[in-house]
Amino acid sequence: MPQMTRHNGACFFLARDSLRVRTAVPSSMRPLLPADTPSIINRRTALLAGGGSLLALHAPGAHAKAQATPAAPTVWPQALLVPGGVARLPLGPAAARPVVHTQGAKNEQVPVLVVGDAQGWTALVGIPLAAVPGPAHATVAAAGGSAARQLPYTVAPKKYKEQHLTVSPRTVDLSPEDQARYERERDHQALVMATFTEQPAGQALDSLRMRVPVPGRRSSSFGLRRVFNGQARNPHSGMDIAAPTGTPILSPLPARVIDTGEYFFNGGTVWLDHGQGLLSMVCHLSAIDVKVGDVLATGQHLGAVGATGRVTGPHLHWGVMLNRTMVDPALFVPAA
Ligand SMILES: [Zn+2]
Repeated sequence: MPQMTRHNGACFFLARDSLRVRTAVPSSMRPLLPADTPSIINRRTALLAGGGSLLALHAPGAHAKAQATPAAPTVWPQALLVPGGVARLPLGPAAARPVVHTQGAKNEQVPVLVVGDAQGWTALVGIPLAAVPGPAHATVAAAGGSAARQLPYTVAPKKYKEQHLTVSPRTVDLSPEDQARYERERDHQALVMATFTEQPAGQALDSLRMRVPVPGRRSSSFGLRRVFNGQARNPHSGMDIAAPTGTPILSPLPARVIDTGEYFFNGGTVWLDHGQGLLSMVCHLSAIDVKVGDVLATGQHLGAVGATGRVTGPHLHWGVMLNRTMVDPALFVPAA
């Protein structure tokens, strides 16, 4: 195998969801790390809590099999009540789909995806990677429009891997022009990420089991914290899949294309709307073969893997978003 294809590409810069990209940032302005993260520089830590025991499956009959081997998940996404995971909150029966909200990063009310039917509804709440472990809640509007009811859940702590890298300052500093471009693109992406459509494209909400957009080795780098020259960045918020340039990328669910572009960090990018705030993004594309407004079926071709943007080599970065929150795509797909 040629050396180039053995190389496992990764997203070098993780500033898509990072507010600051310069090294000369006062410590008081750095992105906050959770209180339980050791603030020790130049120390490699590789802590990954076993998430399996935290899986809470709401599948009927799942509890009946008290065997050593857990039953295969039958609901998608799987629930995982940790930062970067998904809470499945049962809402009970109702004639119409209940309206559920969660609080966003700026205390704004963000609509939440609700699946089910009149027999029983379930809210699927994306839990931010920056969430503080402990009690949390979403709110469901009361039928008569009176006070909203709280839907409590508890976020368990999870230690994601941490990686300390020392690189040339020039590598992590942006020129004023690049900084301005990045900020424009960040503002544009924020508008894309706020997309919430009631009607899914092609009835995507019938099943939220996704198709992996490209075959290939999946990294487990979701949530990875990177510290460049002692400065913490926001964590990696997607799944990197190793694949050579040119590999076709397929839509993971029925979708409507809501954005395409060539972005500074993410390179060639396509954003897909699967309905009710469930979005996916694919990045670093070498070819984009769709345009905004196109409606795609599951498995439909949309572009090709590449190494555009700030990356260390060709790969697909796949992000999955619920209620404007990047969650672990692995919860939407069967294990590799
Ligand atoms: Zn990535």
